[in-house]
Amino acid sequence: MLQQQWGEALLQRLHVIGRTAAALGTPAYLVGGCVRDFLQNRPAPDIDLAIEGDVRAVAEACSTEPSGVQCTYHPHFGTAILQYPDGFQLDLARCRIEHYPAPAALPEVQPGDIQTDLIRRDFTINAMAISLDPEKFGDFLDPYGGRMDLQRRLLRVLHPLSFLDDPTRILRGLRFAVRFQLQLETGTRGLLEGALTQDIFARLSGARLWRELKYLLELSDLPAALEELDAWQLWPLLRPTRPELEALLAQIQRGQQEINWFHYHFPDENLCDTAVLLTILWRDSPWAAAEKRLHYWPLAGGRHILSDLHLLSEMPVALAKASHPSAVARLWESLSLPGILALLAEYPETGAITESGHYYLLKQRGLTSPLNGKDLQAMGLAPGPQLGKVLRRLHDARLDGEIEDKETARQWLIRQGILPSIQP
Ligand code: ATP
Ligand code: MG
Repeated sequence: MLQQQWGEALLQRLHVIGRTAAALGTPAYLVGGCVRDFLQNRPAPDIDLAIEGDVRAVAEACSTEPSGVQCTYHPHFGTAILQYPDGFQLDLARCRIEHYPAPAALPEVQPGDIQTDLIRRDFTINAMAISLDPEKFGDFLDPYGGRMDLQRRLLRVLHPLSFLDDPTRILRGLRFAVRFQLQLETGTRGLLEGALTQDIFARLSGARLWRELKYLLELSDLPAALEELDAWQLWPLLRPTRPELEALLAQIQRGQQEINWFHYHFPDENLCDTAVLLTILWRDSPWAAAEKRLHYWPLAGGRHILSDLHLLSEMPVALAKASHPSAVARLWESLSLPGILALLAEYPETGAITESGHYYLLKQRGLTSPLNGKDLQAMGLAPGPQLGKVLRRLHDARLDGEIEDKETARQWLIRQGILPSIQP
């Protein structure tokens, strides 16, 4: 099966590792997500190996000449990466025992064997291994019934303290549930409810919680993930109250459409997609709730979300009132890029507001005045705040289509009485 799904070349690489590890007196295993993905006949994004003995010795022995394999060892984590000449890579880690000194604390780690390494894992579907040992290559280790759970589409933790030890597993589980259409097994559901009554997330650092939430927000099927989050009663992680679900999911979907639209038209420009989604999620929540969360979450551009949340409610009326293209552009300009897309998410794809927002992003945003400060000074205007005002008016005139180039701008300055009509 490995040969069929992963191909002969990878199979040979795994054989080499198994033999090399055995020669050094240590078994090696495929573990975790790649075994789960293999059983589902899905491509595995990364392939993890667990080694019972010395990771460094195995990795270095696999990367001797003339294999062309490069080895990078990370002493701090006791992990190694094997990089093959064709760019393929394998991650090696030492089998370990984990002990949680307190709920939600980081674990104390000791070397262990494959059995202890599997029981430290999050869910049965992620706690399976395949032996690479030459004597029993391909032997399947499944002490917690992960394969059966995968068939029955059940998400099950390995022991009752699992969520208390590490609450990030709740959000990992939510992602797996959405990605692989899994149901919470009844006992695990009880453990989740128990963990939530103990306010377990409060013990987690903001940065750890944020990392998991960010992965969640990056799921392409975010509406399904938020529906699941609703069923798991996890809204307090994201916002103070349960939202009106249907409306919010529709807006999230529109937001994702706008994000795609933006990336399509501006492939080289940076956009923080997460900021768009958070702005949508927080639009109808008290501002202080958003501020409190951003205080702990290291999101670049978080401050912009807060200022956008202030401005967004006034935008539709202000846009309707704006009489000139320049006034409309100035309004859009007051929002950050994510703020603009979050506002568009509240309106249909075809409609006046979306059209106006797209026009601003595609056309108005890039328009510059044909004359700069230096040009104006060369024309005899004195430097200072007054010059800044003239530049701004010129920019507005450009947005309103009153000027096109340097010459029409000069005539405009004369008409406005800013420049004398007869110049030296
Ligand atoms: P993905 O396809 O998203 O990478 P994955 O299962 O490989 O899924 P990783 O985050 O790459 O997830 O982790 C690899 C493995 O490490 C998991 O399959 C799981 O066995 C274990 N693991 C990761 N995080 C935890 C955790 N917080 N608690 C227990 N085990 C974990
Ligand atoms: Mg992985």
